[in-house]
Amino acid sequence: VPVILGAQQHGIEPRLLSSNAVRVTSTLQDAGYQAFVVGGAVRDLLLGVKPKDFDIATDATPEQVKRLFRRAFIIGKRFQIVHVMFGQDLLEVTTFRGPSIENAPKDEHGRVLRDNTFGTMAEDAERRDFTINAMYYNPASEEVWDYHGGIEDIRAKTLRIIGVPEARYREDPVRMLRVTRFAAKLGFQIEPGTREPITVMAPLIDNVPPARVFDEMLKLLMSGHALACLQQLRKEGLHHGLLPLLDVVLEQPLGVKFVTLALDSTDRRIHAGKTVSPGFLFASLLWHQVLEKWNAYKASGEFPIPALHLAADEVLDSQTEKLALQRKIGSDMRDIWSMQPRFERRTGKNPYKLLEHLRFRAGYDFLLLRCASGEIDAELGEWWTAFYDGDETEREQLVAGLS
Ligand code: ATP
Ligand code: MG
Repeated sequence: VPVILGAQQHGIEPRLLSSNAVRVTSTLQDAGYQAFVVGGAVRDLLLGVKPKDFDIATDATPEQVKRLFRRAFIIGKRFQIVHVMFGQDLLEVTTFRGPSIENAPKDEHGRVLRDNTFGTMAEDAERRDFTINAMYYNPASEEVWDYHGGIEDIRAKTLRIIGVPEARYREDPVRMLRVTRFAAKLGFQIEPGTREPITVMAPLIDNVPPARVFDEMLKLLMSGHALACLQQLRKEGLHHGLLPLLDVVLEQPLGVKFVTLALDSTDRRIHAGKTVSPGFLFASLLWHQVLEKWNAYKASGEFPIPALHLAADEVLDSQTEKLALQRKIGSDMRDIWSMQPRFERRTGKNPYKLLEHLRFRAGYDFLLLRCASGEIDAELGEWWTAFYDGDETEREQLVAGLS
């Protein structure tokens, strides 16, 4: 039985709602269906934050939803959802899910592989991950329907998993990553019963398809609170074994400074509304592993440039397997890394040619991070900044000044 709160009690500001979300819920309601804004958007509305996207939950089937909108597409095979488009804006409309968990096909560790039964709103709420993510908002009545004490947990800044924690993590180990992300992003405490099983159960993440881990990992890194997330993972004792990538990153004493600077700059870019390239991010996270292997190849007599390529290949090969790094991201990473030795060649036409490189800006930003972390002499970065900013005469002088 849900607790139902009116506008006076929850205090959601209607201006934080997107007009398209209201359009979708009212269209569905006019056709006789139930329709609510759900999940992360309700949580954000209650926190007074403008949600970045809106998910809608309804008792209409995907087919019924599709018929009501001009641009609507049913996607997904295992569990169908409907994408409703208005211009560039996309809303996800999901039919209430039922309690198929007990009978659903699972892998040998208990992870749910498939579930596609529809259900009631109460059943849908029970299937969601955390109490603060299981609330429903009806823009027409301005009511919030709260099935699991989400309102109280929001007020107490607490993350609490719905149901028996061990069972919920077993069904879907990705929830362990999600709780960490939300804790860092929202500045919430993880309720002890929700936190305690994680250390023991973390290895189950290995059985999740890499592409899903990658998606969640990317969300974590691009949340604008990446640094806090990593610190949170450390605090929860989750930095070992949870993600091979984090093991690599956090175990290199020299790498930590570099990664800290990289994530801090990523967080700032996100807060400033700038874009962040996943390639740059992963190139940063794995740079010190590349560096280590690069040095080893050079020490064994390989020339610097081929040595770097060998090191890059090795690191990319091992991570692609575990992380399902997309091809495009991998090639961006390779570009950024292989540009690095070219920054050292500052004579003749070399610096001019490098400036023409399509990814120059990323390579240059990366170089500055290497300087800031103390890996290489700051002079190199300063020289490139002057060269990059300089006019033709200044550039000539900078190149001449080195000979
Ligand atoms: P964000 O603001 O980061 O997008 P979110 O809560 O909206 O946060 P989504 O991944 O977009 O996160 O998921 C939307 C909703 O779907 C969640 O709020 C939650 O109710 C439900 N959900 C998502 N992932 C899971 C999961 N692994 N297990 C159970 N419920 C989930
Ligand atoms: Mg969301």
